[in-house]
Amino acid sequence: MDLRDIGRRMMRNLTGHSGRTLASLTEPSVLVARDLTPSETAGLNKNKVLAFVTDLGSPTSHTAIMARALGIPAIVGMHDVSVRLNAGDPVLVDGYQGLLYLRPTRPRRVRYERRTLARRTIQSRLAVLRDQPAMTQDGYSLILSGNIGLPGDVDAVLANGATGIGLFRTEYLYLNKLPTEEEQAAAYAEVARRVAPAAAIIRTMDIGGDKFLSHLKMPQQVNPFMGWRAIRFCLAQPEIFKTQLRAILRASVHRNIKIMYPMVSNVKEVVAANLLLAEAQAELAQHGVPFDPDIEVGVMIEVPSAALTADLIAPHIKFFSLGTNDLVQYTLAVDRVNELVAGLYEPTNPAIIKLIKHTVDVGHEHGLWIGLCGEMGGNPLLAPLLIGLGVDEFSVNPPAVPLVKDAIRSVRFAQAEELAQAALRSGSAGEIMDACRRLCGQTAPEILELME
Ligand code: PEP
Ligand code: MG
Repeated sequence: MDLRDIGRRMMRNLTGHSGRTLASLTEPSVLVARDLTPSETAGLNKNKVLAFVTDLGSPTSHTAIMARALGIPAIVGMHDVSVRLNAGDPVLVDGYQGLLYLRPTRPRRVRYERRTLARRTIQSRLAVLRDQPAMTQDGYSLILSGNIGLPGDVDAVLANGATGIGLFRTEYLYLNKLPTEEEQAAAYAEVARRVAPAAAIIRTMDIGGDKFLSHLKMPQQVNPFMGWRAIRFCLAQPEIFKTQLRAILRASVHRNIKIMYPMVSNVKEVVAANLLLAEAQAELAQHGVPFDPDIEVGVMIEVPSAALTADLIAPHIKFFSLGTNDLVQYTLAVDRVNELVAGLYEPTNPAIIKLIKHTVDVGHEHGLWIGLCGEMGGNPLLAPLLIGLGVDEFSVNPPAVPLVKDAIRSVRFAQAEELAQAALRSGSAGEIMDACRRLCGQTAPEILELME
């Protein structure tokens, strides 16, 4: 999928070393690597890879997000772990706490076995929430959706009890080649059909950052997250972009599809993208192809300039979705894939809380609804805070759905509001996190137990 993938494959061919590929793993193992790309992670066989640890990366890299979606325990950003461990070393991986034990003692193994059993018990208790609504104790309703990368991921979304799709990361469809309009339309229609009448939010492709496609001939960039990524790439490649827009429109006949633009940093980009969307609609209409003429368009708020100019963007769209993975990285100037600064990556930093509140308030003033599709939404400890800040929809990694639903259903709206008000007055990320933990200890202690 990316340049490093190609480089490694070429080296294997040139040197004649077939190398042990991930696909050739025969025994269930813990994988230790310098790095894994998002595409390599997506291809991991869960039955063979019990867990993985890498030197590089941080918890909101797409590799880590993918590991969470697959339910593979993982620790990324362990600096030099790959040179410190030897093949065959027995290890214990605690992905919850980010702890790796080399040659774990018997008492430690027993402790972890007990903990795993306790977790399974709580998880099976939570399974009964599957068909229950995402509603607070006092009847305040939220939309709880799932994030997907490929149509097949809808299974996990529905099995875990979310209703719609709040983020379809469509760039995963482009891994090996540019998909045709028809191939894309079929993928989007399948997702829409399976979750109807709930919404399926199709995010237009977010290439760049830590996701590069070798077949798209993208130049190497020193600073890819600040560079030619997402909407910037799409507006510079209108034919590729319009093919995707036409495909989404073709699939929109179920009338539950929404379109979302990523990495918007100013209103001009929204206007330009909407113009291309209007062109795509006209082209389909000319050929008599049906589509939803009232399709809703939204914008990801993941760049601070977009949050701060939400009032300028709002008149052009119907919803915002807070992309906190990037909003945190761009606001705090902390590269989301760099383990050296991972400690500075703070979703509860007061700057982030204020930007979320500002976006929600401005959006609501303009009659928009506000979603949140970053990993922050999948942390059940933070659900009351986000409810109190006024977020209307959570879209989370499928395995996180039961916990987030439990957190929502355990709290009263007034408690959430009080927590949010305190957070807005708070001086540090740690203080806000402690307050979230305290409230969770009162309302849903099983969540704290599960996360420890
Ligand atoms: C985000 O930035 O929060 C987001 C959901 O998008 P991605 O993780 O794909 O950049
Ligand atoms: Mg993003």
